[in-house]
Amino acid sequence: MPIRQLPDVLVNQIAAGEVVERPASVVKELVENALDAGATRLDIDLEEGGIRLIRIRDDGGGIASGELPLAVSRHATSKIATLDDLEQVATLGFRGEALPSIASVSRFALISRTADAAHGARLEVDGGRVGEVVPHPHPAGTTVEVRDLFYNVPARRRFLRAERTELGHIEEWLRSLALARPSVELRLNHNGRLLRHYRPLREGADPLARVAEALGEDFTRQCLRVDHAAAGLRLHGWVGLPTASRSSADQQYFYVNGRAVRDRVVAHAVKQAYADVLFHGRHPAFVLFLELDPRRVDVNVHPAKHEVRFRDGRLVHDFVFRTLHEALADTRAGAVATAEA
Ligand code: ADP
Ligand code: MG
Repeated sequence: MPIRQLPDVLVNQIAAGEVVERPASVVKELVENALDAGATRLDIDLEEGGIRLIRIRDDGGGIASGELPLAVSRHATSKIATLDDLEQVATLGFRGEALPSIASVSRFALISRTADAAHGARLEVDGGRVGEVVPHPHPAGTTVEVRDLFYNVPARRRFLRAERTELGHIEEWLRSLALARPSVELRLNHNGRLLRHYRPLREGADPLARVAEALGEDFTRQCLRVDHAAAGLRLHGWVGLPTASRSSADQQYFYVNGRAVRDRVVAHAVKQAYADVLFHGRHPAFVLFLELDPRRVDVNVHPAKHEVRFRDGRLVHDFVFRTLHEALADTRAGAVATAEA
């Protein structure tokens, strides 16, 4: 075969392979976009575990009607403009890939209105074929609808699991987000029923309230508050007492600059910090936020951004280890400690 340039739709479908694994990945990308747009309230409606429908409405800044076609074009983003921006990126998105990828493997609609626009507008994309922008009523903010995910990619569709399983992935991802954004109100409806409602945490309220909503009081009754800063690094959050250890690593939430990540350097540091207070085979529960200058961490490692690369991994490792080791000192001495509110 001769070498040829692939058509845009196919390029987007190939990219979708990396970004869109299942309904939960769509929810993640759309919710992150809403947060990047400054939303304080999100309504998520699902049908059939998100396979039939994912609809997310936000009260963020919206998209100007003239920019709707750009929003669904590949490599088009309002979040970075230069390499320097990329190196200190503070938004959750920046690759300009999510909407075109999702829209290439679903029946997709984007409806939006900016606060200063008189009318809203709607743009549909069907399996990557982009329609016309038409006027459409909408409050300030954005709604994205994704129907029949992978309807045109049977090989992918076959990998989707039962409704319950896909819903479980969405709920778990939303839990991890709810922990990181306590001031954002989140509603999750499934097949017309309200499943979860995370109420917004008011200024000055106890941040542990959201943790209790997300993880239950079994966790909040048996955790220690951590907050330590050194060498331009800050680690804060809550770590479970050894008595709250679990048989699986299912309550481990780690965020770097507000982004949930899996990181081996950090996982190792946490494991070491707990080494002498946990029995073999037990796993700690924790919700930890690491903050550092965005220039000291590369978030552009994977399209879905589940991983990061620290410029100084050893420093981060030792900081996390020391902070937690110190926090757990009293439990090591056998003293009883409880979380301070
Ligand atoms: P990225 O988030 O990497 O910029 P996306 O494909 O996810 O790329 O989105 C493309 C662009 O569409 C964003 O940069 C943003 O300008 C706009 N956009 C997407 N979703 C929303 C939203 N919910 N509210 C406002 N703008 C949005
Ligand atoms: Mg995005």
